Amino acid sequence: MVHWQNWSGKLESTAHSIQFLRTEEDTCALAEHANDNGLVIRAAGATHSHAPLVKTTGIVADLQGLSGVMSTETADNSAWIWAGSRIFTLGRPLHEAGLALHNQGDIDQQAIAGATATGTHGTGPKLKNLSAAVRGMTIATASGELITTSPDRNPDIFTAARQHLGAFGIVTRIKLELEPAYRLREHTWQADLDELLENWSEHAEQNRHFEFFWYPQEDRGQAKTINPTTDEPEYPLAAEGARCGWSYEVLPNHRPHKHTEMEYSVPKEHGAACMREIQSLLTNQFSDIAWPIEYRTLAADDVWLSTAYERDTVTISVHQDVRLDDEVYFRACEEIFLSFQGRPHWGKVNYLNAAQMSERHPRWEQWWQIRDELDPRGTFLNDYLRGLQPA
Ligand SMILES: Cc1cc2nc3c(=O)[nH]c(=O)nc-3n(C[C@H](O)[C@H](O)[C@H](O)COP(=O)(O)OP(=O)(O)OC[C@H]3O[C@@H](n4cnc5c(N)ncnc54)[C@H](O)[C@@H]3O)c2cc1C
Repeated sequence: MVHWQNWSGKLESTAHSIQFLRTEEDTCALAEHANDNGLVIRAAGATHSHAPLVKTTGIVADLQGLSGVMSTETADNSAWIWAGSRIFTLGRPLHEAGLALHNQGDIDQQAIAGATATGTHGTGPKLKNLSAAVRGMTIATASGELITTSPDRNPDIFTAARQHLGAFGIVTRIKLELEPAYRLREHTWQADLDELLENWSEHAEQNRHFEFFWYPQEDRGQAKTINPTTDEPEYPLAAEGARCGWSYEVLPNHRPHKHTEMEYSVPKEHGAACMREIQSLLTNQFSDIAWPIEYRTLAADDVWLSTAYERDTVTISVHQDVRLDDEVYFRACEEIFLSFQGRPHWGKVNYLNAAQMSERHPRWEQWWQIRDELDPRGTFLNDYLRGLQPA
């Protein structure tokens, strides 16, 4: 038995063991062993999820040893990547091949398999989440076999597993759609929340990336745009907000302070109204919250469990210090998000049950059906996911 905890330290468990995997042979052997012996396995990336996706009393499979860029293809702007690769290790080798990710989240500490498992995204109204960039995957399944999936090979599994929640097996390799390497320059400014909410749509349309944070205690908005540039990178890079460099140097930020987070995606047209209700909630009922609210955009996609499935989206994130209680605050925010047809981020806190998830995800039952066929015993389900399984 071994102690496991996530990045924030808020989620903990006593796991059966943590297995450090270094080859696909190891990975298949572990999957088969667990399946034959009635054990549960949860694969772990960087454990940055606030939702209890990895938490288990079974085996935690750590894939940091299965890392690196395997091959790149400039003809179709793609690369095969080992699943345990942390995103911050990918920028340089992809750049050397003339390639880059379309977009990145606020940080680059996640493993690529962890980030694609939950629909991790950055901001930009024409930019989709990372799961939408998946073009192929190799998965060690419960039977101990390796299966490769793509739009042409095992297409049903591929379609469901692009955003997989670690529930289809242990992902060992991922093929990602990329684009030619590009440079970015960022710009920040301060503005009233009212002004930002009046103009956010134009800002979003006119810039590759637009987002803002609202700091409730100071009632201050901090906006950021990031756009392509032909300027040479400026080293040493300036602080966040004034960088000019390659995309992988400018997009990620440093977020060391331990916190918990809830994020919901709402249809783009409800973004401003939803944010106004969150503002009013904080002002009237939670004036002690010191953490900012983040407002971003995300393009519609065709990924079954994506929060942007078939709808252009605004994402709104609320945070709390990990040492403080978050539940009363987050539940009050969730009520507002749900009233705007919100879908919860898979890697962050939510309190939804199976029926509520099913209502929000049109492909929910199909996703489970394909998953269950691949793993009938539930080797890759922990208590949290079992609780969401359709009856
Ligand atoms: C400081 C911070 C900043 C963040 N910023 C953003 C952001 O800007 N945008 C955003 O969308 N999200 C953001 N997140 C959320 C984060 O991107 C997601 O929770 C992401 O899933 C975490 O990746 P991870 O590698 O830590 O995965 P984990 O949390 O370890 O795992 C996530 C899921 O992936 C599965 N998994 C991991 N590896 C494998 C594998 N090899 N095979 C099968 N399943 C696997 C796990 O089983 C689990 O279901 C942030 C989180 C933090 C703590």
